[in-house]
Amino acid sequence: MDPLSPRQQALLELVGTLGREKFAPRAEKYDREAAFPFENYADLRAHNLLALCIPQSEGGWGADYRTYCLVSAELARYCPTTALTFNMHCCTMMWIGEVTDALGLPDEVRAVHARRRSAVYRRVVEEGALFAQPFSEGNQAAAGKTPFATTATRHGEGWLINGRKIFASLSGAADYYAVVVTEEKANATARDTLFIAIPKDAAGFSIVGEWDPLGMRGTVSRTLLLQNVFVTDDALLLPPGVYHQLAVRWPYMFFTLAPTYMGLSQAVFDFTVAYLRGEIPPMQEKRRRFPLKQAAVAELKIMLESARALFHTVIAEARLDPSKEARLRAYVAQYTIMENAARMAALAIRTCGGQSILRPLPLERMYRDARCGALMLPWTAEICIERLGRECLYEPGERDE
Ligand SMILES: Cc1cc2nc3c(=O)[nH]c(=O)nc-3n(C[C@H](O)[C@H](O)[C@H](O)COP(=O)(O)OP(=O)(O)OC[C@H]3O[C@@H](n4cnc5c(N)ncnc54)[C@H](O)[C@@H]3O)c2cc1C
Repeated sequence: MDPLSPRQQALLELVGTLGREKFAPRAEKYDREAAFPFENYADLRAHNLLALCIPQSEGGWGADYRTYCLVSAELARYCPTTALTFNMHCCTMMWIGEVTDALGLPDEVRAVHARRRSAVYRRVVEEGALFAQPFSEGNQAAAGKTPFATTATRHGEGWLINGRKIFASLSGAADYYAVVVTEEKANATARDTLFIAIPKDAAGFSIVGEWDPLGMRGTVSRTLLLQNVFVTDDALLLPPGVYHQLAVRWPYMFFTLAPTYMGLSQAVFDFTVAYLRGEIPPMQEKRRRFPLKQAAVAELKIMLESARALFHTVIAEARLDPSKEARLRAYVAQYTIMENAARMAALAIRTCGGQSILRPLPLERMYRDARCGALMLPWTAEICIERLGRECLYEPGERDE
């Protein structure tokens, strides 16, 4: 890994301090209540961290992809729920920024986009606005198999949005919901996807349903209903056609949930070591002398470092139009990080023993949170396996008779 700049180091120290001193002590309460960590967001806002992925010229920290991934992983060591929801906001800022610029759009398209995104950045920097990213619909769209069922129909100078999004993290906390929708037209395909910001107080927008899941409970990911919600063209976060281009040409946009589970894996390892060393109150009996426990810690370390090596490799390779090998490696990394997080948490519990799963110790929460990683579309563990198997064996266009 290239050395960090002083600015990157300062940022990681800031996030580490916030995480250790403020977010970690609050995590148990948010988990128990399945409530959104508003206090953590007030702290992030106070340090202008909602503008982490906004260019410095527009008032942000100007974090690039690598810096974002490292910050996200550091945050997740202390509160995975905060890291996962922070991802939805930061990615919206990142995608509309340098990633879109790299596509080399025509000048007039670029100029309109630059004006619209500056307005988005100002809302974040000056008003502390928070953006959610609800894509999932419970159908095959988020898996990349069909166009999104939520539609945008041309209406005067804007659009009427209709549909339903499930698992909208930050529901009730976000100021804007950055939804992906399909432009209503004959024979619409995934190329007709639009990325649009819906204000929380838009007429026809509502949040419904209960939220009482296994893990990542503080994300408060409830269901959104969009019924004839009107937005103007200025709500377009990306020019028409650009979301699909990004999804195809910059697949790293879908790797940004992995840092959360990388940080969580580190937390599982840190907890296990401290616990076996007798450093976690009220348990003060050292258990590190048992050879089987030492072997389990060695296994945890191997899983952690294997995942981390892939994590850094993929971050370093992130670019527009990656080679086939680099893209496959990104699936391998995503799968490894998500699955290792869950396996590590399970092994940590077996190794630390019965008393380690008692609340308020964080291990049982880590176990539940870690289980969620493999479910995150569009790169679920299953989809990674499916793509890896197929793409290792078939070149584009190849078919068996
Ligand atoms: C804590 C948490 C927070 C979340 N936050 C967000 C969020 O902020 N925004 C967001 O958009 N989503 C979010 N999600 C949703 C997540 O990304 C998935 O969309 C969700 O878990 C899918 O659940 P499902 O029951 O539809 O199952 P899935 O099994 O994933 O199925 C989804 C659809 O994809 C199809 N499918 C699944 N696997 C394959 C395959 N191998 N080949 C073909 N089709 C397949 C299924 O048939 C189905 O139609 C969150 C999830 C969790 C657990």
